[in-house]
Amino acid sequence: MTAFPSVTMKILAASLDLSPDAVVVVNAAGTIVLVNALVETMFGYREEELVGQQVEVLLPERLHTMHAAHRVRYGRAPRLRPMGRWLIVEGRRKDGHEFPVDVSLRPIMMEQALHVIGAVRDMSVQRIAESEHNELAKRLYLQGKLVNLAHDAILVCDPEDHIVSWNRGAEKLYGWKEQEAVGQAIHLFLQARFPQPLETIEQVLEQEGQWEGDLIHICRDGKQVIVESRQVLVRDARGTPTAILEINRDVTERRRLEQVEREARAEMRARLKALQLILNELPISICLVQGPQARLILANRASTALWGAEWKRGQPMEDFLTRHAIRLFTGDGRPLSSADSPIRRAVASGEAIYHNQHVIRQPDGANLPVLVNAIPLDALRELQPLSYELAEGPAAAERVALIVHQDVTALKEAETLKDTFISIVTHELRTPVTVLVGYASLMLARAARGKGPELDEWQRAKLSEMKEAAHRLAKLTEDLQHVTRVQAGQFQLQLSPTDLVALTRQVVDRLQATTDRHRLSVHTSLAQLQATVDAFRIEQVLTNLLTNAIKYSPQGGPIEVTIEENAEAHEARFNVRDSGMGIPREQQVHIFERFVRADNVRAARISGTGLGLYLCRELVERHGGRIYFESEERVGSTFYFTLPSNAGTR
Ligand code: ADP
Repeated sequence: MTAFPSVTMKILAASLDLSPDAVVVVNAAGTIVLVNALVETMFGYREEELVGQQVEVLLPERLHTMHAAHRVRYGRAPRLRPMGRWLIVEGRRKDGHEFPVDVSLRPIMMEQALHVIGAVRDMSVQRIAESEHNELAKRLYLQGKLVNLAHDAILVCDPEDHIVSWNRGAEKLYGWKEQEAVGQAIHLFLQARFPQPLETIEQVLEQEGQWEGDLIHICRDGKQVIVESRQVLVRDARGTPTAILEINRDVTERRRLEQVEREARAEMRARLKALQLILNELPISICLVQGPQARLILANRASTALWGAEWKRGQPMEDFLTRHAIRLFTGDGRPLSSADSPIRRAVASGEAIYHNQHVIRQPDGANLPVLVNAIPLDALRELQPLSYELAEGPAAAERVALIVHQDVTALKEAETLKDTFISIVTHELRTPVTVLVGYASLMLARAARGKGPELDEWQRAKLSEMKEAAHRLAKLTEDLQHVTRVQAGQFQLQLSPTDLVALTRQVVDRLQATTDRHRLSVHTSLAQLQATVDAFRIEQVLTNLLTNAIKYSPQGGPIEVTIEENAEAHEARFNVRDSGMGIPREQQVHIFERFVRADNVRAARISGTGLGLYLCRELVERHGGRIYFESEERVGSTFYFTLPSNAGTR
């Protein structure tokens, strides 16, 4: 301030240094005559650098012209312009940094000339605060929009439960406008009904800071709504409650549907209970199982008696069997895994299984012969909806099967009794029949040789008939005996290495001797074919098939036996072909059953028992082979059978 030594100036300079603002004094030409220390700090110039400069030096260049014009205008009508009147311009530091400043102006006459004192305040901090404030206001505005966008009723109450804010969602749900709602005591206003006492809710809010639950409210039009309410208690920094925020969602329809579903389920349970009571009175075992593991859905009382243990609802079959040491066996006594049982097969593959015979060994070791029907419900269309009703949760899509077990112990006992009876009768018949055949043959032979009294022609004829009839009786008793033994499992295969080619030739030669009308032949490329079989039983099979071929080709003709080996499958394959009467198509499915004979052979009065093929099948299957045939009436038949061979032994 050495440039202005006048007293006024000195006093002014000293007082300017006390000012909280940066102060610049300029003359009428806009030249800086005085600055205080703060100007140096704010603008980065030293005092001597500024004094004598145009005041525009403190502004960015782009404002110089505009400012100079302003200054000239001001010089014509100088007046006081205090701070805060939005005279905010950009200042410019010596280093080029620009910053907002507020400027107040005061004209002053000094040394008979007009001067202007400009107080300059750095507005950077205020500018930041201002922009933050604007940002906050914008955010609040958007949040307000968002709150109004929500379908839920969003309300704010004061700690005394008076409504202070009420969004569009609330207007829509309850029908009251915000101006009508604000200030109201919320519970009275909405005639709220609470699932638990209000004090409890308030206590939870107080202790946990939030509460959730259903409330019933009455709308402006008197309609009742159920809302799912979430409430949060807001506190200030000192912990004093300041507000309750509440979001209420209309769940009236949802709750109604839930109620409908609950009622439907209850009704279904009641129906199931009734069904269970009815099923419990039935003497046969009935279960419903579900999913590939055959989990139990429902079982009647007879089922518990059948298994000898209680199969728990939801328990998989395998678990149930293992837990109670229950075992399953096939009709002929082989162990049956639960996966292969009709029950599991029905649910796993959707296969319907009828009249399957097996044996249940109960926990106490008792064996129970049963007949099983396992029927997937999807096979029974009218029952399909039931499977969806019965199943629960994600398992609903799994297959449900109805399992019916019939205890056939009594039937089996009757069958055993019948077999015993047949076996006794056939045994007792054997001796007299042999005697009959023997004596009739003897008498015929003696008469032929001229020994004893001469027989008339009719006597010889009748004796021959008697011998024939007795033969047939002998064959019947023999077949019956075999069948009863096979059925009772009373015979064991006597396995030994056998050459099947030699065995076949032997049988063919023996039977060729019994007929002139037929030409029997063996076709094979094999010199021999070794297999471990019961030679006596296989001879029986071949004898039966060849006897049939002869018997049922009354016109005579060729009968061919072919033997092949499938070494890969370790299998010997036989076929016996005739060109005889054939088997009528409609009777073919039953032809392996006991006592079944086709109509054409009965009509032709060809004698037989209907037991031979049954025995053949049993014997071949016991060896692990298969037997089947192709036949056409009046064209002929071919019977095929296979046996396991010792491949590579030739
Ligand atoms: P049987 O010959 O004693 O009647 P089988 O059990 O051996 O008893 O045969 C059952 C039935 O099968 C016969 O009664 C006959 O109707 C039919 N059948 C079996 N083999 C032949 C065949 N080769 N040709 C025509 N029909 C046959």
